[in-house]
Amino acid sequence: MRIFSGIQPTGRKHLGNYIGGITQYVAGQERGDPAIYCIVNLHSITVEYDPVDLRERTYDLGALLVAAGLDPDRCVLFRQSDVREHTELSWLLGAVIPLGELNRMHQFRDKSQAQRELVSAGLLFYPVLMAADVLAYRAHEVPVGEDQREHLEVMRRAAERFNRRFGETLVVPEARIPEVGARIRDLQDPTRKMSTTGSSEQGTVYVLDDPDVVMKKFKRAVTDSGTDIVRADDKPGISNLIELLAVVRGTSAEDVEREFADSRYGDFKVAVGEAVVDFLAPVRERYAELRGDEAELDRILAAGADRAREMAAETLVDVRERMGVAPARSVDRAP
Ligand code: ATP
Ligand code: MG
Repeated sequence: MRIFSGIQPTGRKHLGNYIGGITQYVAGQERGDPAIYCIVNLHSITVEYDPVDLRERTYDLGALLVAAGLDPDRCVLFRQSDVREHTELSWLLGAVIPLGELNRMHQFRDKSQAQRELVSAGLLFYPVLMAADVLAYRAHEVPVGEDQREHLEVMRRAAERFNRRFGETLVVPEARIPEVGARIRDLQDPTRKMSTTGSSEQGTVYVLDDPDVVMKKFKRAVTDSGTDIVRADDKPGISNLIELLAVVRGTSAEDVEREFADSRYGDFKVAVGEAVVDFLAPVRERYAELRGDEAELDRILAAGADRAREMAAETLVDVRERMGVAPARSVDRAP
């Protein structure tokens, strides 16, 4: 079972990334053979960004992932741009992915509307590169949050189309989306997902926020009219807090509802805030130790890239040959 997932080094990672992405990555190390995790810096250049900042954020994220429990000896952790097979395969897959599909992507629509300066072609091509990320490793499973479901469908169809047209070559991957916590919502606007781009500072809890900042954000979390602490479609704020508490405590949402049946919103928000602070404390501590040593982070990412490149290169040999852009390999060909 090969597992692959990517995470962007833009901005500070938030509780949604941590729960929808990172905790699944850590768990995947047990099952993955191997589990491959990629810091997708080439995705981050599709919106406005600062090069110096991007380089720094890559170290930030490397340190954060290791602090969260990724063990470079038990998984393959690397930087996307270090393995050129990703960009090569993305061009090749561009030949089988229809423009119409890319145009319809919600992320493309949302992010292109939010762009003040340039809507880059890269933003449209984002799902093609993402398909290449996964298909290059012939991964079976992709742990992601709910927002990535659409992109997963594009890559599955791309693999199917490729195999039909050029012969069985690529593995059609499955999304692995957690049952609870796949869509953590913005605390100030619970109709939207917590997001790196386009959500409010007050509504976004960052993994590295100081404990008092975390508490303040939870105390000010927007709740709903009514007083009951239960999940319901018309109670997105309270539902979000219930799910959050269940995930960080490792219990079920039903248990949380039962325990807080007689509590008031204010007390509940404090309880969720405290649980999140406790949940993040060990990660913040380890992060502070790891982030100081960039040479060690470079060493980890370079070693990961070497292993990743070997796997991706094998796929690319097949893809290039099937597509007719490399000479045919034949064991019995005359010298
Ligand atoms: P952006 O909003 O700019 O796309 P992001 O916050 O989605 O950034 P990514 O690096 O694109 O960050 O996502 C990393 C992982 O976190 C992905 O698997 C994504 O599905 C997951 N994720 C992102 N936001 C949430 C959320 N609110 N709840 C649960 N999972 C999330
Ligand atoms: Mg995203």
